[in-house]
Amino acid sequence: MKLTFLGTGTSYGVPYIGCDCPVCRSKDPRNKRLRCSILVEAGPLEGENHPTPRTRLLVDTTPDLRQQLLRANVANLTAVLWTHAHNDHIIGLDDIRPLCDRTGYIDGYGSADTLAHLKKVFEYIFEQGRDHGGFPRMTEHPIAPRQTLPLGDIHAKPIPILHGRREIFAYKFMSGGRTLVYATDCSAIPDASWSLMQNADVLVLDALRRKEHPTHFSVDQAVHAVSRLRPGRAFFTHIAHDLDHVATNAGLPEGVELAYDGLSIEV
Ligand SMILES: [Zn+2]
Ligand SMILES: [Zn+2]
Ligand SMILES: [Zn+2]
Repeated sequence: MKLTFLGTGTSYGVPYIGCDCPVCRSKDPRNKRLRCSILVEAGPLEGENHPTPRTRLLVDTTPDLRQQLLRANVANLTAVLWTHAHNDHIIGLDDIRPLCDRTGYIDGYGSADTLAHLKKVFEYIFEQGRDHGGFPRMTEHPIAPRQTLPLGDIHAKPIPILHGRREIFAYKFMSGGRTLVYATDCSAIPDASWSLMQNADVLVLDALRRKEHPTHFSVDQAVHAVSRLRPGRAFFTHIAHDLDHVATNAGLPEGVELAYDGLSIEV
């Protein structure tokens, strides 16, 4: 299974508009952060002689989606999964249009609440039975916590986490005996979810900044959660302009690091 970080920034992105702090002025490309999203892939590569296509899952549709799909060279998707309906995770959905022009309707998965909000903002995208392009075309699939979704070569499972007082979804991805857990926008893990998130080969967790925040883990809180979850490797994401890539990484425990845009790893 392959994981690519399409964006690792908080809702503002980094640099913040108008900010001249050292991280926003930094020339290190790892301090340039588009809004938070990942691509998860498994199965045969294009061009290989195989009856089924490569499975390609996009998590969230950020305001930077066009740039992210171009940068990662994404020409088709098996499905889109949403963690929650905050603007930094949904508002780029219209950029999915060229993929629908190529392959038709794309399946979209999220909680009933998330999909209801998406349909309010993007009513025209979920209308079924369209033959022609000009619109992104998506089919909605409301999903329940802990339900297993077979999506091509990957099984996905939504896991409830807390984002402030709001319950949203983390996702566990399983393929070829390997597991990846992606938990962005997380400020607490409910008791019943810990066991579902434990011992992943790779864990991606929210770590906004050093100072505590009501709806996101701080770096220390995320490090503490990693020590309980015991993944093989851990990456932090949804990062604000408070955290310089190199300086922050130097202080993290072994096996834990800040993710950065464009980072791609084999899980
Ligand atoms: Zn967010
Ligand atoms: Zn700044
Ligand atoms: Zn959020």
